Amino acid sequence: MVVGDVSTGTEVAVVGAGPGGYVAAIRAGQLGLDVTLVEKDAYGGTCLNYGCIPSKALISATDVAHEAGNAEEMGVYADPEVDVPEMLDWKDGVVDQLTGGVEKLCKANGVNLVEGRAEFAGSDKLRVVHDGDGQGSETIEYEHCIVATGSRAIEVPGFEYDGEHVLNSRQLLELEDLPESMVVVGAGYIGMELSTVLAKLGVDVTIIEMLDEVLAGYQDDLARPVKQHAEELGIDFHFGLAADSWEEDGDGVVVTAEDEDGETTEFETETVFVAVGRQPVLDTLNLEAIGLEPNDNGRLDTDDQARTDVDNVYAIGDVAPGPMLAHKASKEGEVAAEVIAGEPAALDYMAVPAAVFTDPEIATVGLTESEAEDQGFDPAVGKFPFNASGRALTTGHSDGFVRVVADDDSGFLLGAQIVGPEASELIAEFALAIEMGATLEDVAATIHTHPTLAEASMEAAEHALGHAIHTVNR
Ligand SMILES: Cc1cc2nc3c(=O)[nH]c(=O)nc-3n(C[C@H](O)[C@H](O)[C@H](O)COP(=O)(O)OP(=O)(O)OC[C@H]3O[C@@H](n4cnc5c(N)ncnc54)[C@H](O)[C@@H]3O)c2cc1C
Repeated sequence: MVVGDVSTGTEVAVVGAGPGGYVAAIRAGQLGLDVTLVEKDAYGGTCLNYGCIPSKALISATDVAHEAGNAEEMGVYADPEVDVPEMLDWKDGVVDQLTGGVEKLCKANGVNLVEGRAEFAGSDKLRVVHDGDGQGSETIEYEHCIVATGSRAIEVPGFEYDGEHVLNSRQLLELEDLPESMVVVGAGYIGMELSTVLAKLGVDVTIIEMLDEVLAGYQDDLARPVKQHAEELGIDFHFGLAADSWEEDGDGVVVTAEDEDGETTEFETETVFVAVGRQPVLDTLNLEAIGLEPNDNGRLDTDDQARTDVDNVYAIGDVAPGPMLAHKASKEGEVAAEVIAGEPAALDYMAVPAAVFTDPEIATVGLTESEAEDQGFDPAVGKFPFNASGRALTTGHSDGFVRVVADDDSGFLLGAQIVGPEASELIAEFALAIEMGATLEDVAATIHTHPTLAEASMEAAEHALGHAIHTVNR
């Protein structure tokens, strides 16, 4: 049945219900604004449905199996059997619980939910097309609009995702029949996280990377333990190669990759997983209708209140400048909603933490030593290795370290880098410290529970001050 064109009005229209959009909608609802959230696919966006949450669920599940099967040193002998479909069911249960929660929270905060694909239809107007059998479309007139349409996996030319031979991360996370072998194109964080899962499940993984290192953008001493452990898991790295083409070969495929001199190498494998990054989704929004254009990076330029060049249109999350991270999207969503409600909110990117959930984990926040120098600071640096941490040794994971970077003059914390167990959790202490303007003395003087991994943060701060207890001071 064709419903026809219905017209409604709203104070705030939010397009996209990922961690940017649904958070913006909930915050706007809390602030008493009339808000309509439009989503074409699934509440929770990439993060909850196809990204952060399902990937971390599988990382945890494979870690349980891997730990159990590799604990002879602790006197534990086990040979865990993994049922992949059951593991995927469990992962889907986690996703369903969270996405159902998003819908409930939106409704509890008075958010009107509209299912469909939105595009601009003139200034102050969105057209929402309801997919499916002739369910028509509707027009939503808005006073303010928040664009939160996120990102999609970049496709390498010649490697179009077919869900069978060539997979993107979403397809990989739903794969019930594990292949025996997989070529992974790209050693960025998604490639490295999911390669680790595959390797722990017994898949023969080969990674092709165009650059000559894993996790480009992270300091070498953070990335090195991750690469080393990946190699111990059997992952085979090939650097300086760009995936060029593939062709079917019996039940599998042959991937051809090329180096910068044009020399080619062939890889026989069952399936290819392409993880070369993500691009903002703006092409389906009919931005011309409001006179907006993406910048050279394909994003919408925004000011420190998340406002685009069009006054009543805001952009947050992966379509806005900055790192493509869920928590960054959510913070921008809160700020956009507060600005619309007339609150004195503004974005401040002083301390955006980032984590890579590899084995070991990497987490960073703020400035590295060289970034601090570039910004004119005289950095004081302190470092504490996990092999000097009692707690790390009791968990059997003592690779890595905590490093703090502070301004030598004032002692103010500027940044921290961690590689090792629970790095993704430990980094929160430094994000808070930087946000609060804490000094090395503050962290060093804080009594930390013993024995915990968090003591390493205190020791790193003490090391920068020259009086660490459990490591040698310089
Ligand atoms: C495998 C993987 C692992 C990741 N792991 C992490 C992690 O551990 N930590 C982290 O911080 N980040 C992680 N990310 C990145 C994170 O998922 C994104 O940064 C985050 O989801 C961005 O949020 P967003 O709200 O901007 O967009 P999205 O989450 O992409 O949501 C956008 C939503 O908009 C909808 N939409 C798009 N166009 C329209 C339209 N025209 N009309 C209506 N709806 C529309 C989409 O359907 C989607 O639901 C991961 C990503 C992937 C792929």
